[in-house]
Amino acid sequence: PFEVLIVGGGPAGAAAAVYAARKGIRTGVAAERFGGQVMDTMGIENFISVPHTEGPKLAQALETHVRENDVKIMNLQKAAELNREGDHFAVHMESGAVLKARTVILSTGARWRQMGVPGEDIYRNKGVAYCPHCDGPLFKGKRVAVIGGGNSGVEAAIDLAGIVKHVTLIEFDTKLRADAVLQRKLHSLPNVTVLVSARSTEVKGDGQKVSGLVYENRVTGEHHTIELEGIFVQIGLLPNTDWLKGTLDLSPRGEIVIDGHGQTSLPGVFAAGDCTTIPYKQIIIAAGEGAKASLSAFDYLIRSSVP
Ligand code: FAD
Repeated sequence: PFEVLIVGGGPAGAAAAVYAARKGIRTGVAAERFGGQVMDTMGIENFISVPHTEGPKLAQALETHVRENDVKIMNLQKAAELNREGDHFAVHMESGAVLKARTVILSTGARWRQMGVPGEDIYRNKGVAYCPHCDGPLFKGKRVAVIGGGNSGVEAAIDLAGIVKHVTLIEFDTKLRADAVLQRKLHSLPNVTVLVSARSTEVKGDGQKVSGLVYENRVTGEHHTIELEGIFVQIGLLPNTDWLKGTLDLSPRGEIVIDGHGQTSLPGVFAAGDCTTIPYKQIIIAAGEGAKASLSAFDYLIRSSVP
């Protein structure tokens, strides 16, 4: 069996793999798609010490770094079940393969919930964005919309209002759901318009990039078009943890609950990155968390009795 088996090959999984392999222990990584969300990213300008890179380039660099170490990479492998079997764990893959390991690091990441309207796919990374920390500066001086009036949407709108020319916040419900203190801050900003009972129905573009957003006023049924350059979708980040329900503790949002060492509720199973309760879902944070979970797994191994 592996001493450390990592499930997920994004920045968290790659960092965990490099750290484990450098301890000289048998390390494997199984990933549905090596590179993770980084593969879907265009410009990356906040991975410290790398002023600018592109998603596929960073994903390649992650893989190269992992391959330079003694790590067994199992790409295009999706985990479906995790069980404890005596003194080790068994991870059952959808392919039917069963991988055994003394410790497991879960780094299956997350995905942004999409609006599911025409134009969204075409203009993703061409005006349709999901991460204000990542892409906010690209819209300096421009007009943007934020979709979603929960805490993330309102935080994004406040954040973006300091960078862009104008923000329109669009909420489907009749009122915002964000904390009162955030709503007060939002309403104090001169360059923010809030629309409630509004359903976004289409992303408009000129073939190259976003040029507008169509929404329906849910009270009157009328459709309106807002001219703008950017749309930040903030209607939820879904952790890839469905397969772990009932196996270990998940938060109400489905995130794997971890402590400060990356330990989950199942001793010997660690987790890192966007699939966990750790706040702020970012590449540099996921990588750091992966390193931490790996060191914790090593610590667990040297303390457990089996030689
Ligand atoms: P992920 O990158 O999500 O990787 C998860 C891995 O697990 C993948 O290999 C996946 O295939 C695998 N996996 C999932 N389920 C299973 C399963 N059941 N079995 C096996 N494998 C599985 N962050 C920044 O810091 N800067 C940016 O500029 C930036 N821009 C972004 C732009 C976009 C469009 C998106 C979507 C995200 C962006 N982010 C950015 C966020 C960043 O990509 C994530 O925070 C980061 O990738 C999280 O790393 P992770 O390793 O935790 O998870």
